[in-house]
Amino acid sequence: MTGIQKLFCFFSFFLCFFIKTGGNDAFAARAELKQIRMAVHADRSVRFVADLNQEVPYYISILPNPNRILIDFEDTSYPADLKKQTAGVKKGVKDLRIGTIHKTNTRVVLELSENILPKKAFYLAPQSGFSWRFVIDFKPVTESQIASFQPFGTMKSVSLKNSSAAVKNAGKKNTSNKKPIIVIDAGHGGKDPGAIGISGQYEKHLTLAMAKEVRRQLLETGRYQVFMTRDKDISLTLPQRIQIAHRHEADLFASFHADSASNKKARGLSVYTISEKASDREAAALAERENKADIILGIDLSNETKEVSNILIDLAKRDTMDKSSTFASLLVGQMRKKVALVPDAHRFAGFFVLKSPSIPSVLVEMGYLSNRQEEKLLKQASYRKKLATAFVKAVDAYFDQLNE
Ligand code: ZN
Repeated sequence: MTGIQKLFCFFSFFLCFFIKTGGNDAFAARAELKQIRMAVHADRSVRFVADLNQEVPYYISILPNPNRILIDFEDTSYPADLKKQTAGVKKGVKDLRIGTIHKTNTRVVLELSENILPKKAFYLAPQSGFSWRFVIDFKPVTESQIASFQPFGTMKSVSLKNSSAAVKNAGKKNTSNKKPIIVIDAGHGGKDPGAIGISGQYEKHLTLAMAKEVRRQLLETGRYQVFMTRDKDISLTLPQRIQIAHRHEADLFASFHADSASNKKARGLSVYTISEKASDREAAALAERENKADIILGIDLSNETKEVSNILIDLAKRDTMDKSSTFASLLVGQMRKKVALVPDAHRFAGFFVLKSPSIPSVLVEMGYLSNRQEEKLLKQASYRKKLATAFVKAVDAYFDQLNE
């Protein structure tokens, strides 16, 4: 049985829609998307088929919140009535939209209702009465695989609106006049309170207050674009936090937290960057505590992202780790002037939110909520203001250094 016969065998699962081809003589030279079909096979794999009058370069990427697969076709038009056909896709894909992007490209947006990702994409040459067919086969994946999805395709001039381009450019100096983009992550939130202080203070409220203060001070400099992963008390998974940083093409990502320890005397601020191996047992235990957020939120992270084998990504990763460390050192230097630090305040741990291969990232443990005195300090806006000022100084120094 050929692939296409198989496709039609499962006609009863056919969820899709057919769109009549419209003639478009005025743009005869341009490629045209003529029809889109989606089908679910018996093994639950989902197939997307686009009929085109010729083979055109494509690009497949992803956007989070909600998860959407973007399929771009270069220099391709589509008939007007194609746009209206969005209903009926139920399996894996909740909605399908189509539009024009970058003036001449066609973009198909698949809003996902389940965790599925393109396993492969390929063209089938015209045969048996079919024109060119562009096929994407989707397979079920975990949430963390969605977070680490690398866009791919054959389009040459893709704008930097995606993480793979960011990976490719991670080693290059930022020579444009664009303001650096900083994404601030307030740890925990919503159903996940984080650590609970000795007098009942929730970590999630402190991290949000701190993130807002950092944003305010960063914006005040006029040097940066600043985004927050959350600006209210909502639940976010760890992969979503990374996705938000990628969506904004962040140049720097910082996640704010407050710790808790059984030793009530433990106090001080620390800054973490990623390491393949956590620097000590305590750090490993902490990483485990923080990463547990996603278990609370009902997502199993046991099926962690598989090791990225691509050399390019490895290089970018190393470059990103170096930059993360540079920033962490600057940050520790600034914080040391203002507040108490733990010994060896720059530490290494496998926090999930630090795992982006292309965005320099740090995690700041602002202090211990299990320490009565430090909990009291962290609750003070003036104290957080002081921390934020030190943070902004480190950010300034980091980007100055990067642009030298
Ligand atoms: Zn935390």
